[in-house]
Amino acid sequence: MTGEPETFDRQHKRLMEEIEAEMRATASYTGRTSLSKRVLEAVARVPRYRFVPDGSQAAAYVNAPLSIGHGQTISQPYIVAMMTEMLDLDEDSIVLEVGTGSAYLAAILAELVKRLYTIEIVEPLARQAAEKLKSLGYENVEVRFGDGYNGWPEHAPFDAIMVTATGDEIPPPLVSQLRPGGRMILPLGRPYSFQKLVLVEKTPQGEIRQRDVLPVAFVPLRRLRDEEE
Ligand code: SAH
Repeated sequence: MTGEPETFDRQHKRLMEEIEAEMRATASYTGRTSLSKRVLEAVARVPRYRFVPDGSQAAAYVNAPLSIGHGQTISQPYIVAMMTEMLDLDEDSIVLEVGTGSAYLAAILAELVKRLYTIEIVEPLARQAAEKLKSLGYENVEVRFGDGYNGWPEHAPFDAIMVTATGDEIPPPLVSQLRPGGRMILPLGRPYSFQKLVLVEKTPQGEIRQRDVLPVAFVPLRRLRDEEE
């Protein structure tokens, strides 16, 4: 929380307590009673107020999603923290994120891993995200405009994949770009209707295991027609 204005600093500390309380409350779904020290510190370090639109900053540390324009949202802090926790990342991890959005989650992931590749389908958001991450000094992140359904084959395989928009299937290109032993977390289900967060693991032998974590609400995973990309 270094360098944050004092009011934000206090609110950020309270938010961390709320995230921890929600981790305890959802432990029977997630299997995790708390955040690991590394994830806790990363979430505490990233200044969320820098990722919300001007005018919404008073709500930056409320444990809720916020609109960022273009019909898109910055995810709820608890969801971001919990999804990150479920991936068991370390400083050698190479990670793919689909749905850069505000780049808030990207910044948290960048704090934790060796290299992050992140794809956003709304071009102005991709551009703003790249600028924001650069201005905050993150040098281990590459942002690309495009359809994340197809993954980023040039940089595969990934140790972990995080998808923050919901669709009705696990995109097969993402499954094939996951390293054996790797993990992917994504929402599945219809937008504005029932969705569940799903954890996918590829065993070292290449088998796919998946389990439902908990009910969630995400914006839709959209598709680009090939000629637009
Ligand atoms: N991770 C973001 C959450 C953003 S909401 C955060 O921390 O704030 C989900 C984002 O996914 C939106 O910005 C949306 O435009 C984007 N998206 C939807 N479908 C996509 C696709 N097929 N490929 C890449 N991005 C996509």
